[in-house]
Amino acid sequence: HVVFDVHDVTKVYGSGPSEVHALRGVTLELYAGQISVLLGPSGSGKSTFLNIIGGLDKPTSGYVSFEDQQLNELDEAGLTAYRRESVGFVFQFYNLIPSLTALENVALVTEIAENPMSPEEALGIVNLKERMDHFPSELSGGEQQRVAIARAIAKRPRVLLCDEPTGALDSKTGIVVIQALVDVNEKLGTTTALITHNVAIRKIADRVIHFRDGQVQEIEQIGEKIEPS
Ligand code: ADP
Ligand code: ADP
Repeated sequence: HVVFDVHDVTKVYGSGPSEVHALRGVTLELYAGQISVLLGPSGSGKSTFLNIIGGLDKPTSGYVSFEDQQLNELDEAGLTAYRRESVGFVFQFYNLIPSLTALENVALVTEIAENPMSPEEALGIVNLKERMDHFPSELSGGEQQRVAIARAIAKRPRVLLCDEPTGALDSKTGIVVIQALVDVNEKLGTTTALITHNVAIRKIADRVIHFRDGQVQEIEQIGEKIEPS
């Protein structure tokens, strides 16, 4: 079924001569359980799109529905609750707390979530259980990012939004991180949207959404998980 219904979304930053049209009328649906990859040149609007569906930013016009809830009808408290309960975020930089072990970093989230898995289980899904007592400084970049993924999924979010999760990694390590996202998708069925330049991604995407100049240029159906309306 449709998880996100995005309708004619525009986003304008600034005003007057400095105004930037980051999104110019984006309409698309994201389907349950799929991995959608957002591709396109730098500045084409991918991060803006991800931030808007994740409730971190608001459209200038148009709307986004998550399940049957229109995000623009939520007030700040409602949006915060939406982000907290329904969305896991993964960014290029891991933002782990250096003085806490991998397990403790994940536990920070599970202690405040409503229906979390255990931190051990989350780390198991990204294949890092044996490293759970290590501090971030003792982990490679790819391992730190897998801890960040475990932290993002431990609250069992409906969706996982990843903005260049492999951007700081070499391509080989990037593949290991992408495999962790595939494992999450297969084990938990988390609807995933992912910005990446890693070419290996085509093999694992259900759909590739091409952005250009703030618009969706093309949507490629790759995988088998085709969702009829
Ligand atoms: P991408 O993720 O594809 O690189 P972005 O969504 O980051 O694209 O950016 C789209 C456009 O919006 C770019 O021109 C960028 O400079 C601009 N932009 C993004 N965020 C802001 C902001 N907070 N303020 C002003 N301009 C922004
Ligand atoms: P709150 O005000 O409830 O803390 P936030 O907007 O700060 O809400 O964050 C909501 C969720 O989004 C949290 O899980 C937070 O970790 C994540 N998040 C938001 N922005 C960032 C960011 N720039 N880097 C890392 N995580 C972020």
